Amino acid sequence: MDKSEFESRYFDLVSKAPGKTFLFYGNLKEDMIRWSASAVEYFGLPGEIFGDSTREWISRIHPEDVEPYTDSLMELLHGVTPYHNCEYRIKNAQGEYVWVNCRGYMTYDADGKAEWFGGLVTNMGYQTKIDAVTNLWTVHQFRSELNRLLDDRARGGILMIGLENFKRINAEYSYAYGDKVLALIGEKLREGVLHNCHVFRMDGANFAIVMQDAGVERIVEYKKFVDSFMRNLVVSGQVVHLRFKAAAAFFPEDGEFLDQIQSNLFYALDHAKLTNTDDVVFYSKELFAQKKYMTRLKEAIRECVEEDCKGFRIVMQPIVETKSEVCDAAEVLLRFIHPEFGVIGPMDFIPILENSKEIIRVGKWVIDQSLQTLARWREQIGHLPLKRLQINVSYVQFKDPELLGYVVERLDHYQLPHDAVMLELTESCRVEQTSFLSDVLQTFKDAGISIALDDFGTGYASLTVLKDIPADMVKLDHTMTRSITEKPKDKALIEFIVTYCKKVGIAVCAEGVEKVEALSIVRNAGVECIQGYYYDKPLELDTFYRKYVK
Ligand code: C2E
Ligand code: MG
Ligand code: MG
Repeated sequence: MDKSEFESRYFDLVSKAPGKTFLFYGNLKEDMIRWSASAVEYFGLPGEIFGDSTREWISRIHPEDVEPYTDSLMELLHGVTPYHNCEYRIKNAQGEYVWVNCRGYMTYDADGKAEWFGGLVTNMGYQTKIDAVTNLWTVHQFRSELNRLLDDRARGGILMIGLENFKRINAEYSYAYGDKVLALIGEKLREGVLHNCHVFRMDGANFAIVMQDAGVERIVEYKKFVDSFMRNLVVSGQVVHLRFKAAAAFFPEDGEFLDQIQSNLFYALDHAKLTNTDDVVFYSKELFAQKKYMTRLKEAIRECVEEDCKGFRIVMQPIVETKSEVCDAAEVLLRFIHPEFGVIGPMDFIPILENSKEIIRVGKWVIDQSLQTLARWREQIGHLPLKRLQINVSYVQFKDPELLGYVVERLDHYQLPHDAVMLELTESCRVEQTSFLSDVLQTFKDAGISIALDDFGTGYASLTVLKDIPADMVKLDHTMTRSITEKPKDKALIEFIVTYCKKVGIAVCAEGVEKVEALSIVRNAGVECIQGYYYDKPLELDTFYRKYVK
């Protein structure tokens, strides 16, 4: 018996195993996927092997879950990660949606093309009550326990712990290592609980601790305990640096029904992430009012985007070349005003646009408006007034495969040279998958479009990013430039970055330069260009034209 015959027989055998776990494997190059007999029966598939199987599978997925699924597939295909681990709803043979967990593994050929793919789909409705990785109760048990407490008219609090950069652990090490980390956290969390408390592994990297009769104090105390063991987390001899956010709600005060409490808890956790606080965020009426406000604001923004970006406009801030002290470039910044909500700042509306992916559409509008303006000014004065416009681009936009084509098409449409645009990667781009990002960025550079790393000096891993990402410019964040006059260490760090960048051929732009003292420090450090209130604030287009173009 040769290997492939053995594999086929082996698959026959294991795929008939009873239970609600379904197997599949296939070869993407040959567009072949084989499903286990039990999957064919349960999901009513056309057969064990059938054509266009990915599309057929996607057509059964709940519309709300298609995107995370296809996102994960894209990551697999591009080799961002060989692992697939996704939860979604899919129709079974009876046409009912069931929640499934789908795990798989991809292999790649010598050219890096996706080749073999195999894995299993588990019907979560049939999952056990205990999470296999952490040995904690699952989210299903959380729901039934909370229901029981509510029925018994019990009182108490729930603390939710959400790990923040857990995806990075999986990406940097392995899923197996990630599982070990989760298992250890589960163990520690259980060690810390008193009587009448239960720890649950919620979906993904979230944990909940249900504490009967607990008030604010006990919750805060437990959170401190989590702080202490998270600081010293050692797994397989390695120190693991994990950040987390904490949120809490009380029953029955914060919701008479299970779903209400659960959604309020998640809302509070989102709020903790959004505001980046290290304190426990307690769900409250005010938070609820804010939630309602945010929902209305999001809806209002969505309507404006649909109406051809009504209410949005661009402004420009001069970027001055250090040597000549001439403004030869500008950063394009987005502004938004709404008749009911008034002026909303980019720090508030950009994350909303990023979350809803509307930033893709608005971003294209920004690009078009910017290039149109530049072309108009060229016509008015007979030559290009600026060497380049620097346009902000979020990670979500870089993930859009149409972005590059769009930028090039617009540049050509307005007959502008490709180096008239520099794209600034905002902080949201500082994701774990630098290899994916650097591949994408290289395609922009090949098309003659340059790249700046924005907000440099905030977030983490900035220096390693420099090594891996093909950037033409680094923009030192104003949090750094602001402190250089007081903190000698910050000054030294800037000098160090400039020296490093000079060696590897990356230009440095100092942002947020407000005072003459800061100006002289960054000048002496040798930065190529400067942007900040010292020269000018972001200006309306007509003002910019009057001051810097005409
Ligand atoms: P950024 O790209 O780092 O932009 C620089 C920010 O610093 C701007 O804030 C600018 O007004 C501000 N700034 C400039 N000089 C000074 C100074 O001397 N002192 C101080 N304190 N601040 C200064 P703004 O306009 O509020 O934008 C905030 C962020 O929103 C931007 O940070 C960028 O990340 C994002 N953003 C703005 N427009 C767009 C856009 O069109 N697309 C995307 N994806 N993000 C955008
Ligand atoms: Mg920027
Ligand atoms: Mg910046």
